[in-house]
Amino acid sequence: MAKIKQDKERLRSVAEQITTALQERGHGRHFRQNYVARPGKTNTDGWYYNLGRLGRGKPSLEVWLDRYPARNRRRFWWGFFSTNPKSNSSHLWLMKRLPLLLKPTLPMRTVDDFTEIGRFSCLKQPLKRQEFSQPIEERYKIERFYGIYDNTPASDKIIVKRAVDFFGRVLCHLYGTAPVASDIDSDGLPARVKQTINRIVRDTKMSLAIKQLYGNRCQVCGKRLEIEPGEFYAEGHHLKPLGGEHQGPDLRGNLLCLCPNHHALFDYFAMPLNPARLKLNKHKLGQSFIDYHNSRVSML
Ligand SMILES: [Zn+2]
Repeated sequence: MAKIKQDKERLRSVAEQITTALQERGHGRHFRQNYVARPGKTNTDGWYYNLGRLGRGKPSLEVWLDRYPARNRRRFWWGFFSTNPKSNSSHLWLMKRLPLLLKPTLPMRTVDDFTEIGRFSCLKQPLKRQEFSQPIEERYKIERFYGIYDNTPASDKIIVKRAVDFFGRVLCHLYGTAPVASDIDSDGLPARVKQTINRIVRDTKMSLAIKQLYGNRCQVCGKRLEIEPGEFYAEGHHLKPLGGEHQGPDLRGNLLCLCPNHHALFDYFAMPLNPARLKLNKHKLGQSFIDYHNSRVSML
C-alpha cells in the first residue's frame, strides 16, 4: 500500500515538473493546460495525468505510471493520447506531421495484444527491452497512443528531462517553430533573440554497441557522465547523419561515442575530426564519413 501512495506521489510530482519545464521552454502556448488535483486511474494498474490538450479535437499531452509494459513494476510513459469519438482523426493529424526521426519504429499495438489478468488488462507479451525508450504507437477501440515508455530506474529529474525533450521535439515539429524568447539587453541595445534548438538523440542498435565499446566515455575528451551512481551517459554520433539531406548509414565506421557537449559540437559541424587526436580510438572510422564531416565543417 505504501508503494501505491509513493508511486502516485511520484507521478504527480513528475507531471507538475514536466508542465512547468514545457512552459519555461515556451511550449505553453501550444497546449491548453489542464489543472487536475488527482490522477486518473488506468485499467492497466496505474494512473495518469492529463497535462493539457493541443486544441479542439486534438490529442492530449499525458504522463502515465502504470504496469502496462512490464507487469512487475510500474513504468513511466509520456506522449500524446486521444480518446473521443474522433480520436482516430486527431491521432492521424499528429502522425502525419511527425518527422521521419520521430515516427514510431515498432510494430503497432492493438487490442489483440492484450489479455485480462485479474482486474487489469495486460500485454500478452510484455514489451521487449529494445521497445522501451523508442517512439511507439498504439491503437485500441477508441484510444490512440503515441509516446515513449521509459525502462530505466532513473531519477525523477532525468525522467522529467526525457519527457520534456520528447514533448518539445514533437511540439517544435507540429508548430514549425523552435520556442523563442526575446529580451532586451540591459544597455538598451536592440532585442536579442534567444533560440533553443532541439537536437534529436536517438539510439540505434549500432550506437548502443559503440557506447558499450567505450564504456560511455567520450572519444574526444575521455570523460563520462555519471547520471546515477554507477549509471553512465553518452551519446552515439553519426558522422554522416541518418535521414534528412544526409542519408548516412548506421555503421560502426560512421559512429563516434561522445559526451553531450562534444556531440552538440559535432552535430552542428562546429568541430573538425582528426582521428589521430581522439583520446579514445578503439574502432576504425570510415574515411568517407570523416571526409563528409570535415567538408561540412569547412563549409561553415
Ligand atoms: Zn567529450
